[in-house]
Amino acid sequence: MLTKAPRGTKDLFGDEMNAWLEMEKIIRDLCKDFGYGEIRTPVFEHTELFQRGVGETTDIVQKEMYTFQDKKGRSITLKPEGTAGAVRAYLEQKLYAGIQPTRLYYITPAFRYEKPQAGRMRQFHQFGIELLGSDSPTADAEVITVAYELLKRVGISKVKLHINSLGGPECRKKYNEKLKEYLKDNLDHLCETCRDRFERNPLRILDCKTESCKKIVSDAPTVLDVLGDECRAHFEKVKALLDEMGIPYIIDPGIVRGLDYYTKTVFEFISTDIGAQGTICGGGRYNNLVEELGGQPTPAVGFAVGLERLLLVIEAENGKKTYPVTKDIFIGSIGDAALLKAHSLIYQLRQAGVTAEGDHFNKSVKAQMKYADKIGAKYSMIIGDDEINNGKAILKNMETKEEREVHLDELVTTMKSIL
Ligand code: ATP
Ligand code: MG
Repeated sequence: MLTKAPRGTKDLFGDEMNAWLEMEKIIRDLCKDFGYGEIRTPVFEHTELFQRGVGETTDIVQKEMYTFQDKKGRSITLKPEGTAGAVRAYLEQKLYAGIQPTRLYYITPAFRYEKPQAGRMRQFHQFGIELLGSDSPTADAEVITVAYELLKRVGISKVKLHINSLGGPECRKKYNEKLKEYLKDNLDHLCETCRDRFERNPLRILDCKTESCKKIVSDAPTVLDVLGDECRAHFEKVKALLDEMGIPYIIDPGIVRGLDYYTKTVFEFISTDIGAQGTICGGGRYNNLVEELGGQPTPAVGFAVGLERLLLVIEAENGKKTYPVTKDIFIGSIGDAALLKAHSLIYQLRQAGVTAEGDHFNKSVKAQMKYADKIGAKYSMIIGDDEINNGKAILKNMETKEEREVHLDELVTTMKSIL
């Protein structure tokens, strides 16, 4: 137990960590280009926030949350997603009083008690954005372009955008009745969860992963059939914008999303490369959430990308990347005085942004040079008493084996000029 991390969690280090850092750098640059500012909210919130914000009838709230009591008996939950916390902060910090729309992004761990498998973890990570304050289809399209551009920048092409509209509360009510009418004869053939959903939230049956349920709903009427005029026009505008921007999409009435708060546009980016857990990004418009959490009615739209899955897709398309270790210079030493000098030079070089290393094991010169090779040092230098007395030493290019004499007090400038 002591040396085993909890099921569904993972240590990130080495090359995999480098791949994460590269991915996160692309995300941060992307958000800067699109005008989204980072927000970091707590990893835990009051349980009620997620009950309200994610929705009582969702899988997340019903079975996946890490909920516990703190020492004062408050019910606390580790965030299962990023939107509820971001919207809570938007209200608490009065971000609505600033220039509108509000554009936020986050990169955060998220926690769900699920059955761990490829692309499904108990602690995973999401990159998400939220655009709050506008109901315009241009906002929906903008949010979609951010996800689309991300996929382009990380170098993957075999991911498809699926879009749908769930309409507003009116359309949803009408649709739920129509769907129930269609399903009522097949009720016995639905899975237990879906039989429960039939009364509480029939729309979610469309999202069921059980084969028998999938078959039953494959011919069901779609929300698109019952959209009211305003929602229909909104959806048409979103599509027209995507067409104009040259972003391909598939209209997919099966996209209903796992969270209760969605209205109008919903979308997913789906990969066929990584098996069953193919949805790497899910999002849409959530015009009722801000009000649900106690704010003024505020339209909003956003998405969340699962970063573990994104990395799986990147690696499926482009292979695993390796990140060779390299250092600019290794400075070895012989004797006590030289050891001091070497480490002081190393510190000077590092301050100037030159990656330098020395010996920490009291190794022989031969072993020190072997180490220099191992860490991919571009240059090396060995200092002894003579070098200290003369203030000069030999700098060796490890690749060409070329040698040159350098004044020790000019080492930093020399290195900066030759690198
Ligand atoms: P799924 O249907 O696969 O359970 P979801 O609808 O529950 O996904 P969302 O709540 O929309 O997922 O979360 C957004 C994204 O976060 C997903 O598209 C996915 O990439 C990622 N994600 C969700 N749950 C997990 C998990 N347990 N492990 C890893 N990634 C996850
Ligand atoms: Mg899920």
